[in-house]
Amino acid sequence: MARRKMIYEGKAKIIYEGPEPGTVVQYFKDDATAFNAEKHAVVEGKGVLNNRLSEHFMTGLNAIGVPTHFIRRLNMREQLVRQVEIIPLEVVVRNIAAGSMSKRLGIEEGTALPRPIVEFYYKDDSLGDPMVTEEHAIAFGWAQQHDLDEMVSLALRVNDFLSGVMFGIGIKLVDFKIEIGRIYDGDFQRLIIADEISPDSCRLWDIETGEKLDKDVFRQDLGNLADAYTELATRLGVMPRKSGNGTGPKLVP
Ligand code: UDP
Repeated sequence: MARRKMIYEGKAKIIYEGPEPGTVVQYFKDDATAFNAEKHAVVEGKGVLNNRLSEHFMTGLNAIGVPTHFIRRLNMREQLVRQVEIIPLEVVVRNIAAGSMSKRLGIEEGTALPRPIVEFYYKDDSLGDPMVTEEHAIAFGWAQQHDLDEMVSLALRVNDFLSGVMFGIGIKLVDFKIEIGRIYDGDFQRLIIADEISPDSCRLWDIETGEKLDKDVFRQDLGNLADAYTELATRLGVMPRKSGNGTGPKLVP
């Protein structure tokens, strides 16, 4: 039975109408997809973990003055967030070469980049999210120059924050993707971080062992995805280490 009106269903989340104007509810599903949804599986517990992990990162960003959509977690799978107008550009920040950059430019995976590199991809699944330049974004009206400048600045602030958080728990932040939305305060528009920040949209490598703790575990069949995300959540202190009594994941209140 639907409790509220669905606005949109994506690959990993459902968006419902929020309790008051200007808010929506994000529901995290257990679905994992890769390669533009050609590969799909249901990973039990993933939604619960990503709800909690995204809350952790967004709360931290809010606390240091980087504006995000996050208002509060509602339950195990849902969070209340500000409704935004999503800019149809995925913003990727890379610190270390991997994935599509390594393929496209022939740079060996794991090579540290001389500086963080910010890229834009046009959000369109039917086109496979092609990489675009600022010229495309401006010419086709997806964003203006001042929006793009602010998006780069926000993305680099997220990069500095997340890199530090990850380093503190023995993990290298290789790259990540964020989405940014517009909100309107009267006549003024502001850009804020939206969507989610979770291991679904980051590459995270253990500094000592190189073990992957992100969605590449699913993409490359490296093991159980929920175990990798649980390890990340445990290191972050979002979940207690399992006592071994086999009763399944427990979240810290
Ligand atoms: N990414 C994402 N959603 C996408 C494409 C990429 O979250 O639709 C993330 C991905 O998890 C990685 C970063 O963005 O952390 C860079 O991805 P890349 O361009 O290397 O693409 P991939 O190799 O994952 O296809």
